[in-house]
Amino acid sequence: MKISFKGKSSVLTQNECKDAITFFASRLIPKYKNISICIHFNTIVATDKFDAQCQLTGLNKKKRPSKFNIHLKDGLDKFVSIMMLAHELTHVYQFVRGDLQPCQYISADNKKIIIIYKNKRYEMPANGTVNDLVKDRKTYKNLPWEKEAYKTQFKLIDAYVDRFSKQIKNELRGFYLD
Ligand SMILES: [Zn+2]
Repeated sequence: MKISFKGKSSVLTQNECKDAITFFASRLIPKYKNISICIHFNTIVATDKFDAQCQLTGLNKKKRPSKFNIHLKDGLDKFVSIMMLAHELTHVYQFVRGDLQPCQYISADNKKIIIIYKNKRYEMPANGTVNDLVKDRKTYKNLPWEKEAYKTQFKLIDAYVDRFSKQIKNELRGFYLD
């Protein structure tokens, strides 16, 4: 799995980021080693309303893309940032398995956006940007691909924290044995 970075985070080191992403991907995505992900910190895509976004490169070119950009707002709590990565990795998996397809605008004035999930069309009003979709948080969280991502992020974070606490315990045990 290729992981690269644009910008710098004030809360996560590149190694922490790589470790978390590889851990989540290995649990979620079969053949995750073929995927490349670029993490962008603190870019204009991440706003107050939108903490993170999974954005595709080569939009509409491939039905099952393998290159992804994740935009993550800097300055969030460390574990919140890690949980955001778990959320976005779930979307990556939805794209990889072909359930979620890249967004396409339908009208010339970009008034509507179509998202196709599991072969079903979801048409939503948006003034040309995906950010408009998140204005109504409740509707947004109930979109089927978001529901899955919120459910999965907690499962992944549980496993991550479990592993993390095991590591600390082992280190402490080693310390007392020395
Ligand atoms: Zn999401």
